Amino acid sequence: MIRNILKKGISAKSSRDILSSKVETIRNLLGDTSVIPPNYRGSVAFTKPIPQMITDDIASALTDVCATRALSVETTAGDAGIALDRSKCILCGRCKEIAPDLIAIGNWFSPSVKRRQEMIVTSSVQGQLTEKSVEETGIELKIRLRRTLGRSLAVREVDAGSCNGCEVEITALNNPYYDIERFGIHFVASPRHADVLLVTGPASSNMEIALQRTYKATPEPKIVIAIGACACSGGLFGDTYATTGGVDKVVPVDVYVPGCPPRPQALLSGLLLAVDKLPSKSESRISEEMKK
Ligand code: SF4
Ligand code: SF4
Repeated sequence: MIRNILKKGISAKSSRDILSSKVETIRNLLGDTSVIPPNYRGSVAFTKPIPQMITDDIASALTDVCATRALSVETTAGDAGIALDRSKCILCGRCKEIAPDLIAIGNWFSPSVKRRQEMIVTSSVQGQLTEKSVEETGIELKIRLRRTLGRSLAVREVDAGSCNGCEVEITALNNPYYDIERFGIHFVASPRHADVLLVTGPASSNMEIALQRTYKATPEPKIVIAIGACACSGGLFGDTYATTGGVDKVVPVDVYVPGCPPRPQALLSGLLLAVDKLPSKSESRISEEMKK
């Protein structure tokens, strides 16, 4: 928004007016996805069908350069190919330096998924080129919440050993730009008041018991969203003596949001996917209670 103000040469008084006007703030930043810088790293995709174009040399160079083992050799009908696990990708860009004709890094974000297996890409996938704006996603979320819950969604954030990069993006959801409370999403101070747990970090061993207790303390329907490469797969931290290798090794995960870190728009789309699970989870809770 500041850039828009500077570009348009708006006077200081008008700038103050815009900054104090919620409507203008939202329109400038959130209705226009072109404000995302073109060189922002949001997602990695193959540009050519796999395994076409892949030689053994390129395959081994790519797997060697990828620090998180997001890239692995995939053999189909005797041909060497490459598989990309988006849950592990930290968007470092080193693979593109090795094979610029084969790998594209776009500023669109990788879509959230309900099963981790869905993040493994072995064919030509161009990524989510047409993203919904924050405004469109938020309004859709608000409508679905009204239908499924009939009230606001309560979210509790749990840091299970992250570098705090994901927290910065989650915090941004509450700033005046994104202001997600207007869509009926509230962050709460206790898991006992939450419908959804947003979990970041690789689930460090030190946080394992705390995360399990948090999960137990959350009332049904408890939806868990793994935020970022660390929470989805262990990310850069992997599976070591100090980490568990992903949140789903500790508690059941309903939605995975890839990225390092995922930007607020990606977080909102993950919440939208999670809301889909609310009716089925609520129904199962009612049937459990009826059995008692
Ligand atoms: S951008 Fe992702 S896939 Fe490519 S080298 Fe980095 S972590 Fe690996
Ligand atoms: S996914 Fe990236 S930004 Fe998020 S906690 Fe892990 S290293 Fe930090």
